[in-house]
Amino acid sequence: MSVRAGAGLGAAANIVRRVSRQRELGRGERVIPGLWRLRLPLPWPGVPHCNAWAIASGSGIVLVDTGMHQPDSLAQLERELDQVNLRLEHVRLLACTHAHSDHWGQAAPIRDRAGCKLWMHPNHEHAIRTAEDPELALARRIEVGRQSGVSEDALGRYADRTRALPSGIARVIEPDRSLVPGVEIETDLGPWTVYETPGHSPSHVCLFQRERRLLISGDHVLGRISLFYDYGWSPDPVGEFLSSLNTVDELDARLALSGHGRPFVDVHGHIDANRKLVAERLAAVAASLEREPKTALQISPGVYGEPLTEYNAGWLLSQTLCYLRHLEQQGRVHHEPDGVAELWALA
Ligand SMILES: [Zn+2]
Ligand SMILES: [Zn+2]
Repeated sequence: MSVRAGAGLGAAANIVRRVSRQRELGRGERVIPGLWRLRLPLPWPGVPHCNAWAIASGSGIVLVDTGMHQPDSLAQLERELDQVNLRLEHVRLLACTHAHSDHWGQAAPIRDRAGCKLWMHPNHEHAIRTAEDPELALARRIEVGRQSGVSEDALGRYADRTRALPSGIARVIEPDRSLVPGVEIETDLGPWTVYETPGHSPSHVCLFQRERRLLISGDHVLGRISLFYDYGWSPDPVGEFLSSLNTVDELDARLALSGHGRPFVDVHGHIDANRKLVAERLAAVAASLEREPKTALQISPGVYGEPLTEYNAGWLLSQTLCYLRHLEQQGRVHHEPDGVAELWALA
């Protein structure tokens, strides 16, 4: 066997291992009678899967969230539905908690196959514009990098890498109905009420079943505390996130069904842990400006306790900028131009 053939077989074995590992991660399971968790594999390091939820509704189901579109992903969803004796054709209504690819990416093929309606919050511009014009979206992110103080070389490498990544979205479709307050989703477990919870994403909603105190929390409140905000689509994502935490805290949910990870109780404790981590991050950003003004690029490594690399920089810089915008809204920091970059200082 030649070295080359061996390497080819090695790569093929890796793919087989990865696909079978993804299948292992995928599983459909009953949470309570009439409600199932579909644990769908993701190709992202550190985030091995996301959840979709099936809820009995008459002779069919309501499906909340879709998983990401990737090779074999619709078949994977069908296999998991089959494990709990459900079928894609049972979906009467598809509701998405928000328009990130892991929650909305398969909306088009599911709607095509099931002939169901799609309901989602109307502030989905962040996703639809990105999916319809990836070059424009990339240009916006490059500009953010430039304002943060990133070099042109590093921005070029980031652009090449981003262009090579799949979008995770099968096809852009508009929702058939806006998932906004006042809309209720009828199921056999009772009605689910819509709560707008922007912050993680402008299009984010949570669904609450009042009698059973069940919260479908999407990525707003997760079992493992992990913060992410879409940057650049609203003036103050961190402020929105904090006020959305108050919104769901008041519901007094007993069990949270989140977009990633296992269902969890102590919803209030998780919400509080999120508040605490936001406060820590804000304090760290402000503290880093005590001695001298800095760019977001200079602030981020100290706040996150890790060096920026071309793999984490896009994420960490946009998060740092969200904290800076929040502090700016509170009048605690301001920024001024420093060449093409923005230099941030305590007010
Ligand atoms: Zn998300
Ligand atoms: Zn997610």
